[in-house]
Amino acid sequence: MSIKIDGKALAQELRVSLRERALEFKKTRGTEIGLAVVLVGEDPASQVYVRNKIKACEEVGIKSYSYHLPQDASREQVLSLIDELVAEENVHGILVQLPLPKHLNEQEILRHIPPKKDVDGFCAENVGNLAMNRETIVACTPFGVMKMLEKYGIDPKGKTAVVLGRSNIVGKPMAMLLLNADATVTVCHSKTENLQKVCASADILVVAIGKAKFVTADMVKEGAVVIDVGMDRDENGKLCGDVDFEAVEKKASYITPVPGGVGPMTITMLMYNTVLAAFRS
Ligand code: NAP
Repeated sequence: MSIKIDGKALAQELRVSLRERALEFKKTRGTEIGLAVVLVGEDPASQVYVRNKIKACEEVGIKSYSYHLPQDASREQVLSLIDELVAEENVHGILVQLPLPKHLNEQEILRHIPPKKDVDGFCAENVGNLAMNRETIVACTPFGVMKMLEKYGIDPKGKTAVVLGRSNIVGKPMAMLLLNADATVTVCHSKTENLQKVCASADILVVAIGKAKFVTADMVKEGAVVIDVGMDRDENGKLCGDVDFEAVEKKASYITPVPGGVGPMTITMLMYNTVLAAFRS
């Protein structure tokens, strides 16, 4: 039987220390740490994510500035709001909730956020720094995964790590972080051949593909560490991950549950990045 990696408990622990850091910032700088959250349109899932981010800010003692633009907001409206937030000294981090409405060019809008306020770690400069193993702001979800490994004493050094999924927000930065931590890394995607065999070679398997219970026990090596980033719905509409948890937990040494694994860490790492950005300002 495997050890469950408790993301909820770790997230809570981190939030306590972030709260102390936020207080320290206020004492030394005479102002609160600020995070601007920009939502464009009415996507219900995005509205929930934004609400949760604002709630996390309150918990940690970060002042949130919330902006809600209409679904048909123009490119100019969004860019000029970002310009204002860039100029605002009390805003240390800017987050534009994705996805944006189709008529807006996501890349152009994200490029408008300067690297030092890009608390999502999505801009080319921050991603480039990560690729070169330099100090930077790291995308929240993979950063959270690294914190979980650290907390449980799992050192990627010398290990075979397989990342299933190559998205810009999870798979690619995850692979770079594991590489920077001296793992030997393979990245898999929808065109990968012999997927079962590649996954079964992993000492550390990180799965981020968005397919409910896709990873079955035969894809996992005995004693592997399995990190499930997926947030999916099973046949009964219940929240589940990309890993068939019940079957895989019998083989893994460590495994993250869904819910209660990677999910709670993501927003906490956004708070972490905002605190970092504020102290670096
Ligand atoms: P994404 O942008 O849709 O990327 C999915 C990746 O999986 C792609 O690289 C795709 O390959 C690959 N893939 C899809 N089907 C595959 C298959 N059958 N075999 C092998 N590879 C396959 O997804 P994402 O944004 O990275 O998110 C992935 C999952 O993580 C989703 O469930 C999402 O909800 C979840 N998520 C959770 C958190 C959290 O906080 N817990 C944060 C972010 C995302 P190609 O590149 O070849 O298309």
